Amino acid sequence: MRYAVLGTGTVGRTVAAKLASLGHEVTVGTRDPQATLARTEPDGYGNPPFAQWQPEHPEVRLATFNEAAASADIIVNATNGAAALAALEAAGADNLAGKVLLDIANPLDFSQGMPPSLNPVNTDSLGEQIQRAFPQAKVVKTLNTMNTLVMVDPARVPGEHHTFVSGDDADAKKAATDVLVSFGWPAESIIDLGDITTARGTEMLLPIWLRLWGALGHADFNFHIAGARTGA
Ligand code: NAP
Repeated sequence: MRYAVLGTGTVGRTVAAKLASLGHEVTVGTRDPQATLARTEPDGYGNPPFAQWQPEHPEVRLATFNEAAASADIIVNATNGAAALAALEAAGADNLAGKVLLDIANPLDFSQGMPPSLNPVNTDSLGEQIQRAFPQAKVVKTLNTMNTLVMVDPARVPGEHHTFVSGDDADAKKAATDVLVSFGWPAESIIDLGDITTARGTEMLLPIWLRLWGALGHADFNFHIAGARTGA
């Protein structure tokens, strides 16, 4: 399968590396490949520059958002939440049309300082905004409720724990579930919440996720939904 992973941050890199390790053809999307490769400083989270990561993953291509999306069967949105719509616009509506779009991003708003708030929130979500902006894309919100290392290696967290899928297209959610299973998620730990409006709920888990991160002092934790199998 050919994947475009839009986003050069730690999430894009981690998901791209995992997909490549599974034998997929992976292109990471960025605004300007030359500018991305020219960066020499760590990003705002202290991650090394992309040019330092790339030689360790020579099988992963780097291209513009547009080229990456054009070349892919499945697209992963791992861009900054505040910039996701702009990044997907650059990817091109035509290149998203008819394709599964896994949306991992969270609409964190740092404009009022720390901790971030959410924008949109309550009556809307980034997942819905993306689906509205690109009605022909098959948006599935997933994996946004955990640290990126846990996304691709759920065994980092001991015991049973859960992830969610939200989306309007049943086949797209099946495709997303297949991706998650290939990452190591047991099928019974993937909860289909329903249509894309349910992304409001998973995005609104971020405030408690961030506070748990602070309280626990590490990111190898996840949500376990007790009784999830009841009535299934
Ligand atoms: P990030 O720093 O949030 O985002 C980096 C990406 O956003 C880059 O590809 C960058 O493009 C793009 N971007 C930034 N400003 C842009 C703009 N004005 N126009 C277009 N694109 C722009 O990366 P991250 O920390 O890897 O997080 C990615 C997403 O995953 C976020 O939405 C985050 O909330 C979510 N998430 C993160 C975690 C985690 O463990 N860190 C867990 C769950 C969800 P360039 O490549 O051109 O610089």
